[in-house]
Amino acid sequence: MASAAPPGRVVVVGASLAGLSALETLRQEGFEGELIAVGAETTLPYDRPPLSKQVLQGHWEPDKIVLREPGQYDALGVTWHLGRRATGLDVSARTVTLDDGEPLAYDGLVIATGATPRRMPGTSELAGIHVLRTLDECLALRQELESASRVCVVGAGFIGAEVAASARVRGLDVTVLEALPSPLARAFPAEMGAACAALHLDQGVDLRCGVTVAGFEGEGRVSGVRLGDGSVVEADVVVVGIGVVPETGWLESSGLPLENGVVCDSTCATAAPGVVAAGDIARWPNNLFGETMRVEHWSNAVEQGTAAAKRLLAGPGDAVDFTPVPYFWSDQYDAKIQFLGRCCPTDEVRIVDGSIEERRFVALFGRDGRLFGALAFNRPRLLMAYRKLLAAKTSFEDAVAHAQGS
Ligand SMILES: Cc1cc2nc3c(=O)[nH]c(=O)nc-3n(C[C@H](O)[C@H](O)[C@H](O)COP(=O)(O)OP(=O)(O)OC[C@H]3O[C@@H](n4cnc5c(N)ncnc54)[C@H](O)[C@@H]3O)c2cc1C
Repeated sequence: MASAAPPGRVVVVGASLAGLSALETLRQEGFEGELIAVGAETTLPYDRPPLSKQVLQGHWEPDKIVLREPGQYDALGVTWHLGRRATGLDVSARTVTLDDGEPLAYDGLVIATGATPRRMPGTSELAGIHVLRTLDECLALRQELESASRVCVVGAGFIGAEVAASARVRGLDVTVLEALPSPLARAFPAEMGAACAALHLDQGVDLRCGVTVAGFEGEGRVSGVRLGDGSVVEADVVVVGIGVVPETGWLESSGLPLENGVVCDSTCATAAPGVVAAGDIARWPNNLFGETMRVEHWSNAVEQGTAAAKRLLAGPGDAVDFTPVPYFWSDQYDAKIQFLGRCCPTDEVRIVDGSIEERRFVALFGRDGRLFGALAFNRPRLLMAYRKLLAAKTSFEDAVAHAQGS
C-alpha cells in the first residue's frame, strides 16, 4: 500500500467516533497543521450505543450522548463542515468533492464514513418502518414507540436484540423475526444464540427463528409483517435490524480498492498516497488473527482512528501494524454481554465459569488449537484477563487451564 506523506492539511470525512479519535490523535502527536472534518449529520460526533438502549428506553435525552464538551472541541482547532456530504474523491489531485461540487484539497485524508443500515425492499413506501443508526432515527422511533402497542423487530442480531429489549422495557408487545435457526447464528456457536434467545423468551418476547419475511402489510402505514408461509405478524411499528453496509458510495469512482469496505493494508493505509481509513468502513488484515476483517464495534472505531492518524504522520519505514483484539459489549434487559476476539459458529466452545442455565458464564472459543475468543455473560470483571491471552496467541488448552486456575 501507499505510504503517507507528512501532511499540512488533514481532512477527515465522517464526523464520527473514528474521525474524532483521529483528530484528537493528530493533535496529541503534535500535528500543527489545518484540520477539517466533513460530516453528513448536522451534529458533532456523538455516542451511538445508547441509541438502542438508554435513549430509546426514554431514560436519557440526547444531551447525554455528546462525546466531548464544547471546550474540548475548541481546543482541537478543527473546522467542521456539518450537514455536508462528500460525494467524490480524486486521489491524484488529492481533493475530496463536497455535495455543492466544491473540491476540498488535502495532504492527508482520513476516511471514517462508517456504515449504514441494510434496507429491505418495500420498506420505503410505508410509514412506521424504521432502521436505527442515527440520533434522528432513534428519536423518530422513540416517538412512535410512545403510542405503539405492538412492535415487530426483523433480525435478531445485536441491534435487533437491543431494540427488542428496549421496547419490552417500555412495556410493548414485541415479536422478533429471525431467518436463521437461532439469534447470532452467523457469528457464534448455537449455545450462545440459545442463551440470548432465553433472555428474550424470559421477558415474554415472541421470538420466531427460521422464518422469512415476504413483505409488509398496510396502506400508507405499516400494519404487519407478512411471513414466507403467508401468515401476518400484526405490528404498529416495525424495526429492521438486518445488518449494515459500509458507506463507500462516495468512493466508487475514486479507483480506491473497495471490497465490503475500504481495503487497507495492515497499517490502515489505503492504496492511495496520504489516505487512511478507520472504523466500521475499514477492512484490513489483522495479523494477530491472520484474518482480513472489518469490525463494527465502538472500541475498534476509537483504536483504529488513533492508529490511522499515527499512520498518516509516520515516516517511511515507521508504519506500525494495527493488531487489536476486537471487543464489544451489548446490554439487553439487565444482562451485560461482552466479547473479545473473533468467533465463528464452528469454533470449539468451553464454559470455564458459571453456566448457561444460570445466565452467568464465561465461554472460551478455540480454533486450530488456539484461543480465538472469549464471551462473558453477566461476568464483566472476568473477561478482561483474556485480552492478554488472546494477544499472546495462547493455545486453547492453556487458556482453559488458566481459567481453571491450574
Ligand atoms: C444503535 C447502535 C448501538 C450500538 N451499540 C454498540 C454497543 O453496545 N457496543 C459496541 O461495541 N458497538 C455498538 N455500536 C457500534 C458502534 O457505535 C459503531 O461501531 C461506531 O459508531 C462506528 O463508528 P465510525 O466512526 O466507524 O462510524 P459511524 O458511527 O457510522 O459514523 C460515520 C459518520 O459518517 C457520516 N457519513 C457517511 N457518509 C458520509 C459522506 N459521504 N460524507 C460525510 N459524512 C458521511 C455518517 O453520517 C456518520 O455520521 C452500536 C451502533 C449503533 C448504531
